[in-house]
Amino acid sequence: MTSSSRRMSHPLARTLYLSFIVGGALLLPACRGGQPASQSGSNTSDPPPATQQPTSHGIDESAIDASVAPGDDFFRYANGAWLKRTQIPPDRGSYGVWSVLFDRAQQRTRDLLEKAAAGSPPAGSDERKIGDYYATYLDEEAIEKKGLDPLREALSGIEALPDKRALATWIGQHLRADVDPLNMTNFYTDRLFGVWVAQNLNDPSHNVPYLLQGGLGLPDRDYYVQRGARMDGIRSAYRGHIASMLKLAGIDKAEERAAAIFDLERRIANAHATRTESVDVHKANNPWSRDEFGRRAPGLDWNALFAGARLDRSPTIIVWHPVAFRGISALVQSVPMETWRDYLTFHEIDRYSGLLPKAFVDESFAFYGKVLSGTPQQQERWKRAVNATSDALGEAVGKLYVQRYFPPDAKTQLQEMVTAIVAAFDRRLDALTWMSPKTKGSAKAKLASLKVGIGYPDTWRDYSTLAIVRGDAVGNAMRAGVFDYQQRLQELERAPDRGQWWLDPQTVNAVNLPIQNALNFPAAILEPPFYDPQASTAARYGAIGATIGHEISHSFDDQGSQFDATGRLANWWTLEDLAHFKAASGKLVAQYGAYSPFPDLHENGQLTLSENIADVAGLSAAHDAYRASGGTDDRTFFLSFGQSWQTKTREEGARQQVLTDGHALDEYRADTVRNLDAWYAPFDVKPGQRLYLSPGDRVRVW
Ligand SMILES: [Zn+2]
Repeated sequence: MTSSSRRMSHPLARTLYLSFIVGGALLLPACRGGQPASQSGSNTSDPPPATQQPTSHGIDESAIDASVAPGDDFFRYANGAWLKRTQIPPDRGSYGVWSVLFDRAQQRTRDLLEKAAAGSPPAGSDERKIGDYYATYLDEEAIEKKGLDPLREALSGIEALPDKRALATWIGQHLRADVDPLNMTNFYTDRLFGVWVAQNLNDPSHNVPYLLQGGLGLPDRDYYVQRGARMDGIRSAYRGHIASMLKLAGIDKAEERAAAIFDLERRIANAHATRTESVDVHKANNPWSRDEFGRRAPGLDWNALFAGARLDRSPTIIVWHPVAFRGISALVQSVPMETWRDYLTFHEIDRYSGLLPKAFVDESFAFYGKVLSGTPQQQERWKRAVNATSDALGEAVGKLYVQRYFPPDAKTQLQEMVTAIVAAFDRRLDALTWMSPKTKGSAKAKLASLKVGIGYPDTWRDYSTLAIVRGDAVGNAMRAGVFDYQQRLQELERAPDRGQWWLDPQTVNAVNLPIQNALNFPAAILEPPFYDPQASTAARYGAIGATIGHEISHSFDDQGSQFDATGRLANWWTLEDLAHFKAASGKLVAQYGAYSPFPDLHENGQLTLSENIADVAGLSAAHDAYRASGGTDDRTFFLSFGQSWQTKTREEGARQQVLTDGHALDEYRADTVRNLDAWYAPFDVKPGQRLYLSPGDRVRVW
């Protein structure tokens, strides 16, 4: 939603997929799996036609390997023939259902943008704006001719900053709404601080600004402070990158300046909270009055900063990283102006490097793409242009996208499924014997007010005051960032809107929004084979139904229990219930810990527990809802679930996922079925088979 050229997130997000964009595009799937997804890397080979629609609906019988007993290996029974005939494209780490969805959404967005750019939509219309933005991004010849001119005004503004008060004003004026610690768990901004506007953790009736730490060029503090040859290499390459950018911009003493800039960043990093601390919302809940900043974080002229940022009407600001604010503020005071001017200069150039001449683009990719993320080849320009336009004008693109690609009857059908799955979840809560009436009452109240967004928001963002000028690539990106920030600030004047969306409709992703007590399922994920309006009811409940159930259950687990039905930060579990929840999950820890994808490597049942609970709960609620609809085709229901995990991953990525990710490998997630009684009969599963569990060992948490 902003124009930032780089955005980094962490796979702790309660999203399906997570954006992790480093000088290109690389997505780390979250709730659906953790390996780097297909779209990482480049264009060396074309994937299968992205916009092709399935010729059949529901189960792909041709994917099944009938030589495998479902009771021994359900994932390979459901997908074995597909696995044998599918090769992972050479430029990708994995390939499967999610790659197909991503490629399709990207190609469709491209079609919309090409059409808008080639036609002559009315001046000022959304279509005109997205067409102009896209065409301008693609016009490399014009960009080359302009050189560094588009940044001259900003750079001379930085050069003319006389003192620390002016510095504070400048920092304030250039803050953007570019972080989101709770929904997308995006903690990264290259600006000194990041702004997030959302409902107050302590007061559901008001929105409030949140301020987060920022100011680093590398993704996280660990890159500055961790020892070891790999990090040493990255740091050295980054210093080289800073110097190269300054040289390209014709700035003298580049090496000397780069050393000082890096040293300042290293000191900022030392002040930063760790990632683990950042995800602890209780550590982040620090409401400061504006007057308190000068006392709690002395050194920075906060009044000047707030005036520049237009935050001077907010009586309270929630400071997510109080210790970092103290440290960074002290650095503003102690570090000389010359270093701060150099630091701001470098970041201004670096931030917009993708919209500058080719030498800047190549230098940026050489560091952020190759060194930092190991991507051998940069994405084609059109893909970057699609991403950038979607980022800057998300809902303008999204509105056209759903008009063309998301039929109203799909939304109606999905809303009916959501209603049925919520009702099934509610019945499952009623049936729980171990949960106290108090906790149960709170859970039911939260479920009753859960707001599930399907496809797209009820109201669209109005872009009429945003000027997009054909031929002004950098200016367009800057104006889009300012526009987005102003839109967010306006929310401070309004009551919180639980219907607010945090993903654009053309995004292949889904997200749980804890303080809105809401879920977003964008149109681009509601697509075959995952969701097919023409597939049978059984196939739909087995695939998208189970995922809807998965996301719902996150609102009620160890994480979700921190927020009550109104989104207030308040634990509603009794201690006894929480202890029981953890104990009951022990069996699931053992079940997943027994899976070993390679002879020397086991899944980590503890690391993947929350997601595995959500998988079992989601599949169970979806199955209940399917049965309640009168359905009896359990074979199709479970096969559809098994095929929704259809993915092939390279060994390196699979190993990394097992070691570091909160999600088990897709094949074991497909095997979740063994915990449901209804799976056993249609697949004739017998004691002694590998996946067979005696009824007492089948896990039911919810
Ligand atoms: Zn999840």
